[in-house]
Amino acid sequence: MTGTARGFIQTVAGPIAPEALGPTLMHEHLLCDVTPPALAAQGGAEVPITLENSWEIRHHWCRHLGNNRLTDIGLAVDELARLKGAGGAALVEVTTEGIKPDPAGLRRISELSEITVVAGCGYYVEDYLPEDLAARSVDALAKTMIDGLTRGLMGSDVQAGIIGEIGCSNPLTDLERKILQAAAFAQRETGASITIHPGRRPEAPAQALQVVRESGGDPARCILGHIDRTIFDDETLFRLADTGCVIEYDFFGIESAHYPFQDIDLPNDGGRLAALGRLIARGHLAQIVISQDICTKTRLSRFGGHGYGYIFEHVIPMMRRRGFGETEIEAIVVATPRRLLTLQ
Ligand SMILES: [Zn+2]
Repeated sequence: MTGTARGFIQTVAGPIAPEALGPTLMHEHLLCDVTPPALAAQGGAEVPITLENSWEIRHHWCRHLGNNRLTDIGLAVDELARLKGAGGAALVEVTTEGIKPDPAGLRRISELSEITVVAGCGYYVEDYLPEDLAARSVDALAKTMIDGLTRGLMGSDVQAGIIGEIGCSNPLTDLERKILQAAAFAQRETGASITIHPGRRPEAPAQALQVVRESGGDPARCILGHIDRTIFDDETLFRLADTGCVIEYDFFGIESAHYPFQDIDLPNDGGRLAALGRLIARGHLAQIVISQDICTKTRLSRFGGHGYGYIFEHVIPMMRRRGFGETEIEAIVVATPRRLLTLQ
């Protein structure tokens, strides 16, 4: 079928009723290639991961060719068994143009794993995009997103169910601004939510949101991702929450202060939960989603990582120990994902 299934959630296997969506991770990758362009340009052979080098590759996760490539459908299906076993039912696969989306591969993985997968559409940060894209008009960029949502992604018949992750650099480039404007148009046309990868500075999420709002997008249906590496003080966090947008802590499982792209201190899971607790205390429960943003081999079980089941195996029990109620947990992993993924 073509067109948007308003009132439904558009998965890679077709539309489903919102009530059918179980516990959901809102920002993951199953098939992608996020190799930094400079590393890709060096070429050479992929580095096999061994016990001896696995710490180094996990720590400097963007320095070793191959670690940023997830291309094996069978491996993804094996890994998703852990998500299913831990009580997870669905994930949003936010691989967009620039980091090699594979819509047909996602449908295959969803069929074999029996995990519900919602695919994203749109564009990653400009460094990863072909140069000729910069000349494209906002309307043309929007049309590609609308086609992905209403007909199928990249010539396939696999439809997207969300816009993004939309990539933003620091500072925001002209092309990225046009892509955000196009995302807002695509949202108005299809009723889909937008999920954003903001630039790496504290004001970047609010800035990206402002571009979307000025183009007619709905802040309440915008998810600002990677807040773990972007905002470090409550004042900035609360000001962002006051816009009505959805705040996404999506680095759960990264339990190291080290961040390869910037000299910042990443929070650990305890710090992430503490931030969520402060947002909830201020009345923002319905504006929170969580995920793991797995996009490297070293985070998969096969290579010694925590795997896709991590939040359900470890974080939700930790939430209970730290005083989060069942209603709060349900809001974060079920009710809010359901609301955001239902096409309006
Ligand atoms: Zn991502």
